[in-house]
Amino acid sequence: MRVILALNAGSSTLKLAVYCVTGDTVSGGEPAETVTGYTLLATGLADRIGPQGSLSLTSAEGQALPVAPGPVTSHAEAMARGIAALRRDWPEAEVVAIGHRVVHGGADHSAPAEITESLIADLERLTPLAPLHQPQNIAGIRAAQAAFPGVPQVAVFDTAFHRSHPWVNDTFALPRDLYARGVRRYGFHGLSYEYITGALARMAPHLHAGRVVVAHLGSGASMCAIQDGRSVASTMGFSALDGLPMGTRCGQLDPGVVLYLMQSEGMSAEAVAALLYQQSGLLGLSGLSNDMRVLEASARPEAAQAIDYFVFRIQRELGGMAAAMGGIDALVFCGGIGENSRMIRARVCERAGWMGIEIDHARNARNDLVISSDLARTTVMVIPTVEAEVIVRAALALLEARRPQARSTRH
Ligand code: ADP
Repeated sequence: MRVILALNAGSSTLKLAVYCVTGDTVSGGEPAETVTGYTLLATGLADRIGPQGSLSLTSAEGQALPVAPGPVTSHAEAMARGIAALRRDWPEAEVVAIGHRVVHGGADHSAPAEITESLIADLERLTPLAPLHQPQNIAGIRAAQAAFPGVPQVAVFDTAFHRSHPWVNDTFALPRDLYARGVRRYGFHGLSYEYITGALARMAPHLHAGRVVVAHLGSGASMCAIQDGRSVASTMGFSALDGLPMGTRCGQLDPGVVLYLMQSEGMSAEAVAALLYQQSGLLGLSGLSNDMRVLEASARPEAAQAIDYFVFRIQRELGGMAAAMGGIDALVFCGGIGENSRMIRARVCERAGWMGIEIDHARNARNDLVISSDLARTTVMVIPTVEAEVIVRAALALLEARRPQARSTRH
């Protein structure tokens, strides 16, 4: 059985998805048949990697799979334990390709890329643009290379989907040489947007061909304007700080605030970074939690205000994203909050009647796929996003791309 690993390494987490390839692949000997697809075998989550680190594995049917006990102290260890469990439960499994989510592909990568030493060097050069995430992604690649020498690997970039932005959405109004030096609006959450775009193409081709705003609302949150399947604007820009407020990140902020904090309050760059990335957003505003479930359940006025701010900024950006496309045909919610919080969805839509949005409350309460009313001009949908599927498809494409080469070397 041939399997593909889809890996998503964060600062203290490692998300793992194991897919079984259905059909033959390049390493499968002869005859070389067409790869027909993939099915999920298991998912894994290593959380709080370090002295308190834990690992959980779940089968595609939702059953917890046993893993070796003890703290998970590194990404490499998380991977080794996950693989050991995989080999125990599926002894015939052979890892034939590995895909990695990589936060930053810079200005040039508009598609997944095979991992080579020269690509890794490129990605290392991009580290200053994503100092909190890129090193973890590269560490994940290195750990996978060590565990599976010779197995082809592919990087799938969160920025790639947005490379179709017109220039006005790719630049800041700064002196031009800064654009050349890489100070651009890259946009992020591209794997999620690509998944949703593909799902729309299958489920509602007329909407896919139209003007769609996707709201990815999770711990990180952003929105994207997608016209005819291509990203034209996004709320995230140079870093994953911009746009919507998030669990602990501030979202859109007057850059004068940063200057003030550093020049008048004497804060260091590190302290400002910690403030903006880890102490702001829902957590900072509520003083209670970065978790929307906790805020929704709280009676504290600060929790309600944090939710008010979150909703208001989504409504504002919704108008901006629609304006970037000259209108809107569909709004899609995804991410942990977008997929689960009927209250947030209802409140976002409450004041969007002017753009043809009208929610059907019974459908919203049921988490239906379509939650707008039949007569509404704009369709509102809830589509669970599966970023790992975008990774596994890229890995399959890599195997396919290698196939003719393998054939010719066999003859
Ligand atoms: P990540 O960006 O870490 O993948 P998720 O997409 O899992 O994050 O989203 C996490 C967020 O989703 C948290 O704020 C969590 O509270 C929220 N969430 C999950 N389930 C619900 C729910 N039933 N109601 C409201 N919020 C929820």
